[in-house]
Amino acid sequence: MSELDRVLIAGGGPVGFTAALNLARRGIPFTLLEGGDRIFDDPRAGTIHPPTLEMFEDIGVTKLFMERGFIVNNYHYRDRRQGLIADFDLNVLKDDTPFPFRLMLEQHKICYILRDLLKEYSGNEILMQHRVTKVEQDGSGVTATVETPDGEKTFRGRYIIGCDGGRSQVRKSMGVKFDGFTYGERFLVLSTRYDFGKAGYAITNYIADPVEWCAMFKVPGNDEKGMWRVVFPADAQAAPETIFEEASVQARIQGFHPKDGPYDVVHRNLYDVHQRVASCYRNGRLLIAGDAAHINNPLGGMGMNFGLHDAFNLVDKLGRIMLDGESEDILDQYDRQRRTVAEEYLQRQTIENKKNIEQKDAAAQEKFYDELRGIVADRSKLRTYLRRVAMIEGIERANSIT
Ligand SMILES: Cc1cc2nc3c(=O)[nH]c(=O)nc-3n(C[C@H](O)[C@H](O)[C@H](O)COP(=O)(O)OP(=O)(O)OC[C@H]3O[C@@H](n4cnc5c(N)ncnc54)[C@H](O)[C@@H]3O)c2cc1C
Repeated sequence: MSELDRVLIAGGGPVGFTAALNLARRGIPFTLLEGGDRIFDDPRAGTIHPPTLEMFEDIGVTKLFMERGFIVNNYHYRDRRQGLIADFDLNVLKDDTPFPFRLMLEQHKICYILRDLLKEYSGNEILMQHRVTKVEQDGSGVTATVETPDGEKTFRGRYIIGCDGGRSQVRKSMGVKFDGFTYGERFLVLSTRYDFGKAGYAITNYIADPVEWCAMFKVPGNDEKGMWRVVFPADAQAAPETIFEEASVQARIQGFHPKDGPYDVVHRNLYDVHQRVASCYRNGRLLIAGDAAHINNPLGGMGMNFGLHDAFNLVDKLGRIMLDGESEDILDQYDRQRRTVAEEYLQRQTIENKKNIEQKDAAAQEKFYDELRGIVADRSKLRTYLRRVAMIEGIERANSIT
């Protein structure tokens, strides 16, 4: 095959590796260019939703995820003072999906699993410390200019998929807009081995409060025995060292779950949080997927999942073009399908999740709690609600777009 039968992938996060495995399975060679020197293992995505498990099941990967992850059959919506408001039973989705649960598995482990599976395929390249700085296109392909430890190099391919995250260089080379907004506060993620399960919490919990809301969930952690992550809002103006001070982080966790003695806080991380969608996911041979195309707050655990769905959708279309000779017009369909649901579901739902968890109007908060209580008390309402938040409805909507 010539270099122009190759697909370039910028970025070795979960979306880049998912695109790579899907290309390799079709026999389409790829070169994955990752700017970092390793797969990043900072505490970000940890939740996999049912449609994502279904997609990976089709390529024989879900069982590997299940061996390493924790199953969440139910999750809690709580109020910091009132306690449990609603317990969501995901098993109500049993007729909608073979995976009526969430799976907790850290995103870097997803990358490790996919990278290991890629060793079975030849003709591909995974190049670390290769940062894409510019992408240009012509009638037959794309040229990526790449910064490497040995100086600047260029790589040619027929297409490039920008899976290079929120600051995507591929998106910048496409010249598309990335409109939306950045929240006034950052999100602080604390990790502790303390077992909140013994205190009655579910594996996933959303704890509402007008000031000190938090989201808390359990992931396997490095020893696979369990690590609890707690996400709080943090002042965007404060210095990270102040936010990370031992007394301050202890006070925050003790504040919603007081206990004797300090918490064993293993990690402290701060993230800026944005809500943005690219104005187009395609410019000729340049394509974007994942955080390069859309970013959102992590409440609901949707961002990575959405990006993985992008990768499956896009590589299916690239395969139809490169192997079956279909028209490149279907790449515009990729843009229509995935951008529409990013706007209609991903952005809408995550903005709403944040608004609800930090609701300052007491009457509005009580009204919302009553709605949640009504939903969990009625199996039919619960199913409708969970089909949306478990991302099933979004996939159906995307697939309905021609
Ligand atoms: C606290 C937190 C919790 C979250 N929880 C969840 C969750 O539970 N579920 C969920 O679905 N999502 C969650 N998310 C969102 C999720 O982390 C992202 O959506 C996900 O990382 C996107 O994957 P990606 O592969 O598109 O981008 P990234 O993971 O950002 O990977 C991009 C890669 O590209 C590389 N790169 C960047 N620029 C270049 C360049 N110019 N050239 C080459 N390489 C480059 C980077 O080094 C990186 O490795 C969470 C996010 C945060 C911050």
